[in-house]
Amino acid sequence: MSVAKQLQKCPFCLEPIMAGATRCKHCQADLSEAGKTKTRLAKYRTFRVGFLSGLMFSLVLALLLYAHFVWNQ
Ligand SMILES: [Zn+2]
Repeated sequence: MSVAKQLQKCPFCLEPIMAGATRCKHCQADLSEAGKTKTRLAKYRTFRVGFLSGLMFSLVLALLLYAHFVWNQ
């Protein structure tokens, strides 16, 4: 299981290669820049998901507070 976890697909030839590899052993493609881009994109996606869930939570909380005050008048 741990071996499968350390594998990733080469973005050029789609062959399984070691995660974090800077050069594909199948097609010799340079993966150092592709890996950086992917990491940046993953960080952005994580940030966006966290931001959106926080926004949704705040909206629901505000709605609940608003309903609470309106119904208790
Ligand atoms: Zn490759």
